Amino acid sequence: MKHYSLRTMIAVRFALIVLAVIFLISIASNVLISMQFEKYVGEQQNKKAEEMALNLSHQYNNASGEWNLDYIHGIGMYALNEGYIIKLYDKNEGILWDAQNHDMTLCSQLMESITIRMQEKRPELDGDFVTHRFDLKQGKNVIGFLDVSYYSPYYLNENDFQFIEALNRILVVVGIVCLLGAVGMGMILANDIAKPIEKTVEITEMISVGDYSIRFGEDVRSRELSGLSRAVNQMAESLEEQENLRKRLTSDVAHELRTPLANVSSYLEAIIEGVWEPTPKRLKCCYDELERISKLVSDLERLKQVENENLKLYKTDEDLLKLVSSVVSNFAKQMEDRKLQCSVSGEHTVISVDAGRMQQVITNLVSNAVKYSDENGTIRITVENRENAAIIGIEDEGIGIDKEDLKLIFERFYRADKSRSRQTGGAGIGLTIANAIVKAHGGKISAESEVGHGSSFVVTLPKKLS
Ligand code: ADP
Repeated sequence: MKHYSLRTMIAVRFALIVLAVIFLISIASNVLISMQFEKYVGEQQNKKAEEMALNLSHQYNNASGEWNLDYIHGIGMYALNEGYIIKLYDKNEGILWDAQNHDMTLCSQLMESITIRMQEKRPELDGDFVTHRFDLKQGKNVIGFLDVSYYSPYYLNENDFQFIEALNRILVVVGIVCLLGAVGMGMILANDIAKPIEKTVEITEMISVGDYSIRFGEDVRSRELSGLSRAVNQMAESLEEQENLRKRLTSDVAHELRTPLANVSSYLEAIIEGVWEPTPKRLKCCYDELERISKLVSDLERLKQVENENLKLYKTDEDLLKLVSSVVSNFAKQMEDRKLQCSVSGEHTVISVDAGRMQQVITNLVSNAVKYSDENGTIRITVENRENAAIIGIEDEGIGIDKEDLKLIFERFYRADKSRSRQTGGAGIGLTIANAIVKAHGGKISAESEVGHGSSFVVTLPKKLS
């Protein structure tokens, strides 16, 4: 299929609409003229003939029985110039004044010129000169008769035709101006629409070849198109973010594996070459490094499981307060070692969850609170029973998280402070797993934090899945 540019399509459509409107207006105005104006002209002609009859009847002097022939001559000549050929009779049908007798040549010329003009310009009218007879009366007495011949059903003089032609000319000029205006407007409109679309195509093409840096400017005026530009910008931003995370993930996994593998191979090399005695302590070092690798692999496996779109949940009614307390009790030893204070408070909240997975969520959050708390710190855990949701809050007074890092901590392998996190043994997967499990329950995790003052994680679990 042939593709046309949006500009051409809109401009052509605008032009077609305007042409159709002009065409309809021309037809309507012409119909109006022929129906109304020409009917009006016809009526005026009949009226004029009647007026002439009335006027002529006043030219009879009843007392003397005389007609004012001078005046009648004036009226007759005037009427002749207007296209009316009159013949006046007295009451005995004796001719008083006859235009044709008076000026035969002028009458024939007039009739010919009117007939030619009308047949030329209104051939469909099929008109001709018709004689109309009027009785001339004074009171009830008939004093004479008047024959008026004029072109019927109506005729238009030069001025009338000029008026109609001027009207048509105006219509043509207005039409051309409108047409040019419409094409211009169409081009502007098409430009407004086409520009953001072209930019979208440009951006998506750039994205498809791996360049995520391009963005829409602020120059889009319409609400819908600015929505499109916002959506494209958001898409580019999130793809850029994902791409950065992907790169970071690859380098993180490589980095995570490289250190323990290098350590193990250097220890083993030293033992093989006889530089080191294979003492239990040295073998334990190798074992610990291998443990780190296998923990990372099992973390990755767990991540793969929970990030599976169709994560299967085995839900039972659970009391969250009990669940939280039992998880916290597992950390008693660690908390004691670090001299941490931990309080669990709130209401018994029974909700349908996958107990094992929810334990995992709470374990990850509490383990982070413990890991990132300073010695002698306090951890507060609360369970709140709201009408539509259960809320678990885990608050610590630890190192806190930077604002920039806060929006990324739920991403895979994201660690706000790499050196410290590695010390604490985390690979940046715990929150990703927790987030995926909570999402599978239809809930969400949010985090607030201030560097140096602590962090607060809130898990919201809806009571009924909508
Ligand atoms: P990790 O296993 O590294 O702890 P997580 O996914 O659990 O991975 O957390 C991601 C990052 O978020 C951590 O590396 C840490 O920098 C930060 N973080 C998570 N919880 C806390 C917290 N309670 N206090 C401070 N930083 C935290």
